[in-house]
Amino acid sequence: MDILPLNKWIPNLKKPLVIAGPCSAESKEQMLATANEIKAVDDVRIFRAGIWKPRTRPNCFEGVGEEGLKWLSEVKEKTGLLTSTEVANSQHVELALKHNVDILWIGARTTVSPFAVQEIADSLKGVNIPVMVKNPVNQDLALWIGALERMSGAGINKLAAIHRGFSTGDTSKYRNLPLWQIPMELKRLFPTLPMICDPSHIAGRRDLIAYICQKAMDADMEGLMIETHVNPDVALSDAKQQVTPGLLDEILKGLSLRTEFTADRNFEQELDHLRSEVDRVDREILDALASRTEIIKRIGEAKKANNIMPLQLHRMDELMNKRVDLGSELGLGKKFIKDIYNSIHSESVRIQSDIVNDFKVKK
Ligand code: PEP
Ligand code: MN
Repeated sequence: MDILPLNKWIPNLKKPLVIAGPCSAESKEQMLATANEIKAVDDVRIFRAGIWKPRTRPNCFEGVGEEGLKWLSEVKEKTGLLTSTEVANSQHVELALKHNVDILWIGARTTVSPFAVQEIADSLKGVNIPVMVKNPVNQDLALWIGALERMSGAGINKLAAIHRGFSTGDTSKYRNLPLWQIPMELKRLFPTLPMICDPSHIAGRRDLIAYICQKAMDADMEGLMIETHVNPDVALSDAKQQVTPGLLDEILKGLSLRTEFTADRNFEQELDHLRSEVDRVDREILDALASRTEIIKRIGEAKKANNIMPLQLHRMDELMNKRVDLGSELGLGKKFIKDIYNSIHSESVRIQSDIVNDFKVKK
């Protein structure tokens, strides 16, 4: 993919590139009041507002439509901020271009649909406009890449990816799990692709936004898209996750921007030393796992000789509880220990099952 660096399409770029504005355009007054306050927040360069809203259930507020594009254009004229909105089909593209929206984005529910993405790409052929592609709702990196490739195929080279979290069906404190390894893998595959984090849709609640923004900065992401509203509590969509321009300012001021490298030799030496300690402990962990596996094989042989099932559920529960308790005593997180032992235990069951059934044990 031919990707133009962010500083080639955002003049005087500073890190992070901040995009802020309401989830939805609701009224001219709400748009202009929000934009005026956002303008006063240093470092915000782009104003966002959803004009057509993809809602999970019908009969919710589905956006104001074309009328909102006029307000967006007034925001640009009055504040000098660049403007952006979500497009989900060729008609949206046509109207957004007619009203001179500066930057388009493709929403998470659209990225999942290659037909819709291709329709947007076709309507953008020959148009020189930046396009940001949100990750699909489900954890499918190929779909995300596919949507970016369709834009690239239409000649769009001002491209960015937006990480807005994934819907996995798991309950957690997040509305959409961040699964940081997925955007990180996209960055590894396309190192020049700018990555913007949308903490609002990851969090689903405003008290988590600052924490996620910091994580995004620590992961070296280039930008942040933060839903901001003059009066979030009465917002017609995503009320719980929107912040006021005042809180946005606080969040941005509180960010620590860290660097990957330093010229300080002492620090480098200290880090090298600690890393070699980690290497040594990892070696011990792997040796211990290998010893454990040898014992598991002997259990497998004994079970085979006595015709006992490889998986004994009561043992699994007992083992898990004891390990989680022991881990807690040692100051380790419960979920961390559970995840590790789920994986260790399922490998043990697989090994024993292969032995009991005389299958070949894979190394
Ligand atoms: C939005 O940005 O308001 C939106 C609908 O987001 P997403 O596509 O990430 O759900
Ligand atoms: Mn929203």
